Amino acid sequence: MSQPPVTIPGSPVVPNMVSPDHVIQFSCHKGIGCWNACCSNIDISLTPYDIIRLKKRLGITSTEFLKEYTVPYEMEKDGIAGVKFRSVDNGTACRFMRPEGCSVYADRPTACRYYPVALLSMRKQDEYTDTESYAIVKEDHCRGHAENRRLAIADYRKEQGVEEYDELARGWRQLVLKKKSAGPSVGAPSLKSRQLFFMACYDVDTFHDFVESEAFGKLFKLSADEKAMLMADDVELMQFAFRFLKQVLFGEQSIELDEAAAKARLEKWRERQKEIEREAAEKLARAEEGMYEDTDFDQGGPSAP
Ligand code: SF4
Ligand code: SF4
Repeated sequence: MSQPPVTIPGSPVVPNMVSPDHVIQFSCHKGIGCWNACCSNIDISLTPYDIIRLKKRLGITSTEFLKEYTVPYEMEKDGIAGVKFRSVDNGTACRFMRPEGCSVYADRPTACRYYPVALLSMRKQDEYTDTESYAIVKEDHCRGHAENRRLAIADYRKEQGVEEYDELARGWRQLVLKKKSAGPSVGAPSLKSRQLFFMACYDVDTFHDFVESEAFGKLFKLSADEKAMLMADDVELMQFAFRFLKQVLFGEQSIELDEAAAKARLEKWRERQKEIEREAAEKLARAEEGMYEDTDFDQGGPSAP
């Protein structure tokens, strides 16, 4: 099972973008000849909400979930962090696949719900809303396309419970699209910003501790009620994380800052930049000195005056 982000020649994605009204012919049910074939060879990207649902289902923290069940990957060469399911040891099957079907069915990720439909999110550089359309994935092993059932993608999404998943992943998709459309002109993101993106998007329990910390409280002004609500509800916290990232990565201010603390932080950052520049200049000067020390001008030669 795969969730290709774009249509690629030779891939199982039918190269047409379609709307929610598009009618598909498809049914998947126990007893079908290809039962579990899709879950035997996986390439499943996870959304932040997928992770919250699954870690709750398994009764573990997001940090434990990420370590045990996922692998990180880069969505784009410019370093947008993503997370995929880790398959079984020495194999390609999903760790949740059982002979009778999916063992986490009620909490299965978005990509599993959508299959054989792929969601395509797009954002133009000068627009601030994303548009969504769909593509159909046809893989040779999947016999569901030969079943006699026709329904619109909109109805399929309802049936599969995708609407809630999409709604709760919207903020994250917008962040990813914004980062992609920012393009290489802004340069590769720093390690620190990539780590921040990863933590805030995927590791909700670590982000919980971060928001609860004294340092965070000094810089961001949250009311006691808002903080209590965030500390008690992972989904609220996840949506706050998207706002937080939009603010720190794109300057979209929505969380009130403590002015004095923000100013002090900015000063510290400027000082650090000066220090970096000073160190670089010193390093360059030392390198140049070393270069000229090795040059024996008295000996003459082709480049001597
Ligand atoms: S989570 Fe369930 S539906 Fe998705 S790949 Fe794994 S077994 Fe299949
Ligand atoms: S019909 Fe397709 S989605 Fe259903 S089990 Fe078979 S391969 Fe998987």
